[in-house]
Amino acid sequence: MPEITHFIGGRRSPGRSGRSSPVFNPATGEQTGTVALASRDEVEAAVTSARAAFPAWAGTTPLRRARILNRFLGILEERIDDLAAVITAEHGKVLSDAKGEIQRGLEVVEFATAAPQLLKGEITENVGTRVDSQSLRQPLGVVAGITPFNFPAMVPMWMFPVALACGNCFILKPSERDPSAALIVAEWLKEAGLPDGVFQVVQGDKEAVDALLFSSGVNAVSFVGSTPIARYIYATATANGKRAQCLGGAKNHMIVMPDADMDQVVDALMGAAYGSAGERCMAISVAVPVGEKTADALVERLVPRIRALKVGPGTDPEAEMGPLVTKQHYDKVRGYIDEGVAEGAELVVDGRGLKLQGYEDGYFMGGTLFDRVTSEMRIYKEEIFGPVLAVTRAPDYAAAARLINEHEFGNGTAIFTRDGDAAREFAHQIEVGMVGVNVPIPVPMAFHSFGGWKASLFGDHHMHGPEGVRFYTRLKTITTRWPTGIRAGADFVMPTMR
Ligand code: NAD
Repeated sequence: MPEITHFIGGRRSPGRSGRSSPVFNPATGEQTGTVALASRDEVEAAVTSARAAFPAWAGTTPLRRARILNRFLGILEERIDDLAAVITAEHGKVLSDAKGEIQRGLEVVEFATAAPQLLKGEITENVGTRVDSQSLRQPLGVVAGITPFNFPAMVPMWMFPVALACGNCFILKPSERDPSAALIVAEWLKEAGLPDGVFQVVQGDKEAVDALLFSSGVNAVSFVGSTPIARYIYATATANGKRAQCLGGAKNHMIVMPDADMDQVVDALMGAAYGSAGERCMAISVAVPVGEKTADALVERLVPRIRALKVGPGTDPEAEMGPLVTKQHYDKVRGYIDEGVAEGAELVVDGRGLKLQGYEDGYFMGGTLFDRVTSEMRIYKEEIFGPVLAVTRAPDYAAAARLINEHEFGNGTAIFTRDGDAAREFAHQIEVGMVGVNVPIPVPMAFHSFGGWKASLFGDHHMHGPEGVRFYTRLKTITTRWPTGIRAGADFVMPTMR
């Protein structure tokens, strides 16, 4: 069984802890490898290597750093199919979707190649007589990224291109469920000319994460994953003096106003609820039609579309939706559907029990639709992270907006309407970090920043874009006087500029 290793000090480094975890192909249920789980010592070896590499990397001009990222970009573009195949084999998503995630990650690399521009500081001449002030942003040092299973390429790329562009060294701890993409990225970065130790991968579980959180050599932590772990990582990292940004779970609602174009709504919901089998933090998991007539029309149109969903292995070009990531996750999603039935929601399309010929051991779940889901139900309150869409009917816009504002999560949301007033009110008042108007999955582009509100993000900074640059740098202000012929004398009061 092939071992998926760490990448420390510029090379693949086999595990030494004696601990490992199985990796499966979710379409077949077969084990395809084992991933090493790092011990504290192995993590510390990566931190030591990163600390050794940091001074030279921080001293490398932003332009040279950008050139390396540019070469990496070229490699990514050329070999996108190879990386997508690895993602599909371990995650299960369809190949076109795997390429889509790489494309979105690649755009952050493009953004980061503007390092010299992004790192330009500010200067004010003559803040006092012959005194100048400049503000500049310097790298933090060694920063860690801890990432979830659902975007094994894109989420790490929300982080490391900006971190590296800013002059930091980066240690990635990917999900142990689909760990291979991270190793490929590490090799391609090296091929692009990145010095050893600047980007490393430690595979692992809680032990590796805790080693990073408690290491005095790590200056900042970026995390994306579920809310309980985000909360833990934020609390632990900050208690250990580290800067932290921790993105958590989601329950994204889409309001459907009575005047919305129903064909557009149904197309949007199909992709947003069932794409990637619902394993997206920006998936729409609750549709909120306003008014009974809108709700009836929506459900009536959704049902045949959901029944016609093409579910299959990610390698099948016809497939629209692949399997869930693991057997354990399949059981969890199935458990939520059972729970929804027990809670009294109306199960309109049932995805349980879907079996695909030739893939009987794969973790396939059909598209599922619940109607008349109420805000007290667990299937409404909790994140399911599967191909399960809930319809929660609202009598009017105010009730629909209240549902969203009162929900624990605030990652993404959307409204479908032709009414500019309603759309504007929604965009301005809703308590959610990323808002779409007739756009179901409003993921910001690389040059804007990504992040939710409430229990979907702990910390002050969103990821990539300008917020990413702020997160991965610290501000220094330098005040300079060139006192030609001036003697200021000793001054014992608070300095003021004259
Ligand atoms: P997860 O929280 O289980 O795991 C995320 C990372 O944390 C992994 O690297 C994992 O190894 C590590 N981890 C798990 N348990 C840990 C523990 N007890 N202590 C320390 N580290 C631990 O999340 P997941 O199942 O891999 O990913 C799905 C979740 O991620 C969903 O909740 C989804 O909404 C969320 N997500 C959020 C965003 C966002 O932008 N807000 C984006 C993608 C995914």
